[in-house]
Amino acid sequence: MAHDVTLIPGDGTGPELAEATRRALEATGVSFNWDLQQAGVDEYEAHGNPFPDATLDSLKRTGVGIKGPTTTPVGSGFRSVNVLLRKELDLYACIRPCKAYEGVRTRFPETDLIIVRENTEDLYAGIEFERGSQDNAALREKLAELGSHVRDDAGISIKPISVFGSERIVRAAFEYAIAHGRKRVTAGHKANIMKFSDGLFLEVARKVAESYPQIEFEDRIIDNLCNQLVSRPEEYDVIVLPNLYGDIVSDLGAGMIGGLGFAGGANIGTKAAVFEATHGSAPKYKGLNRVNPTALMLSGVYMLDHLEEHHAARALEDAIAAVIRKGEKVTYDLKPTRDDPTAVGTSEFADAVIEEMNA
Ligand code: NAD
Repeated sequence: MAHDVTLIPGDGTGPELAEATRRALEATGVSFNWDLQQAGVDEYEAHGNPFPDATLDSLKRTGVGIKGPTTTPVGSGFRSVNVLLRKELDLYACIRPCKAYEGVRTRFPETDLIIVRENTEDLYAGIEFERGSQDNAALREKLAELGSHVRDDAGISIKPISVFGSERIVRAAFEYAIAHGRKRVTAGHKANIMKFSDGLFLEVARKVAESYPQIEFEDRIIDNLCNQLVSRPEEYDVIVLPNLYGDIVSDLGAGMIGGLGFAGGANIGTKAAVFEATHGSAPKYKGLNRVNPTALMLSGVYMLDHLEEHHAARALEDAIAAVIRKGEKVTYDLKPTRDDPTAVGTSEFADAVIEEMNA
């Protein structure tokens, strides 16, 4: 049976990356009914809306999407497509596997982590009180009444962390661990300082862990976690984090596996799951058939797993890993120097992956 999947090429280098990924996914032998939909800056320029209703409706219908990166122009009043997607589809879990493939230059070749980031709460909730505003003054007055004094020239951001939000993200981490044969979940926090937000997250995490006795559970204070990740990465498996720490540690993880070019991801929600690379639209390379499609292809691997096409997922991942390990038909960023004349383009990288799968 063919899977209905919404395909959003995005803008900048997105369309060429999406095309390479679509071809590689089809070469696994799995059948797809692609519903091609638009989002991003090109769509905004053509029709005045970066995120058309048709795209959202398609994702709600199929429940699964794969998306190329989309540009968010700075200072244009243009809302980020990714933020809109996250809100509209309640994509509460961002899952970023960070695995160092042989052949990639990294100081942390043993890295094989899954970072599970809460996507809706914390300092990212957008509850902000600008310095000098009336609302800021009113809030500071209320806080003073409650015994907390904040300087009158302070800007204020609020950090809400709920039982509901913590429970579902920690559960998502444990469910991921079970589904993917992982052994341990580590919760990162700063509960020693932020007792009522991170403390609550930790308390909920400990409680959820009790219902998964087959998976080891531990917690780490976030600064110590960062230290240990770069000194003993092999000791970590699945890491679950509130939004802000998740954002930072995801990029740390991407750095540990050789950079954003290898970091794919999944945004899982109650209404849909959207798979996309961590990197942006790299607009300076638009249309040049130059950038590395690995991160979006790996996002395709995670999508295959989500669709329970595990055999195809392993075949595609193994083929990507083989192309990287051989180091011949790879893009410029995987060569010893950036101007290496033997580097291939985005499309030829996809050809090499497909050849590997057919070998
Ligand atoms: P970027 O990730 O596009 O580029 C950062 C650097 O990495 C650049 O030097 C780029 O050339 C390189 N790079 C990125 N992807 C690559 C690839 N696949 N292969 C080889 N090199 C690659 O980040 P940026 O320049 O900060 O952002 C550009 C635009 O993308 C911005 O408008 C930003 O808002 C948007 N963005 C979108 C997403 C998304 O859609 N999920 C994520 C991040 C940024």
